[in-house]
Amino acid sequence: MTTLSFWMSLWTAILYAKREQFKMTTEKQPIVKKCIGCSNIEGEVCRVWFSPATKWRTGKCPSATHIKREFNEPEQKVRVGQQKQKKKL
Ligand code: SF4
Repeated sequence: MTTLSFWMSLWTAILYAKREQFKMTTEKQPIVKKCIGCSNIEGEVCRVWFSPATKWRTGKCPSATHIKREFNEPEQKVRVGQQKQKKKL
């Protein structure tokens, strides 16, 4: 188990270093129109995402603070015409 935890921590350190390297080398892209009003805006860029346009391309940004989320409540089951089934012999 010690060996496993060692490899896991090493792997985590490598991923963290790669992420930091990515952050250092990648320039953040400017926000888009749909971002206006969000509290994650820092100057002209987003604090959370590198490419805000990409986040909005497939729908609503998951980190947006200025839009209200719609959660679909599970519908209650309405049983109509429920009958007891006869046991087949
Ligand atoms: S969190 Fe989403 S909505 Fe807010 S600025 Fe960033 S990309 Fe735009």
